[in-house]
Amino acid sequence: MSMTHTLTTIAALASLALPAIAGEHAHDHAHPQHEQREPHREHGTHVHGIAQLNVAIDADSLLVELTSPAMNLVGFEHPPHNAQERAAITAAREQLEDGAALFVPNAEAECVQISSQVTLDLGEHEEHEHEAGHEDDHDHHADGHGEWAFTCANPVSLNQLDVRVFEVFPGTESLRVQLITSAGQRGAELTAERHLLDL
Ligand SMILES: [Zn+2]
Repeated sequence: MSMTHTLTTIAALASLALPAIAGEHAHDHAHPQHEQREPHREHGTHVHGIAQLNVAIDADSLLVELTSPAMNLVGFEHPPHNAQERAAITAAREQLEDGAALFVPNAEAECVQISSQVTLDLGEHEEHEHEAGHEDDHDHHADGHGEWAFTCANPVSLNQLDVRVFEVFPGTESLRVQLITSAGQRGAELTAERHLLDL
């Protein structure tokens, strides 16, 4: 499989496995009783604490794609209200861009990150009049997305990926993983306690 083919495959997989988040801003506004203190609450489009991870291996290429509720990454999903919240978003983006700190292949494979593409856009807070009793922050949901490519000097030794998303972003409780290799496709679930993905 060519690299281009794998990228196409991972995109196709993402659209199959993650239909609700294929559109990053396709938030479901039909759930007005969103309560931020309940991290497991279902919003229709995503569940806080849970994120999707796609991993594809093709020859010497390792491709990783993460789609996560922004809640897991910055602790809120509304447009930033102040400098502190803007700084939190900037910091999370920088942490996302460092894929080598989030995803650590076993050392024998000698993989290095060659590219990253990160999106974390919570919009801009609009200074408009708020209706009495209406908290418009509760209508906002946002996802972060990242894609990282690694190239491995010794790909035959590639057999494990240490996923450190849970340490970097403690708001992440579980990752639903789809893994594509030459051997086929399989799913897995990772948590802070079980963060090693066998490849
Ligand atoms: Zn949300």
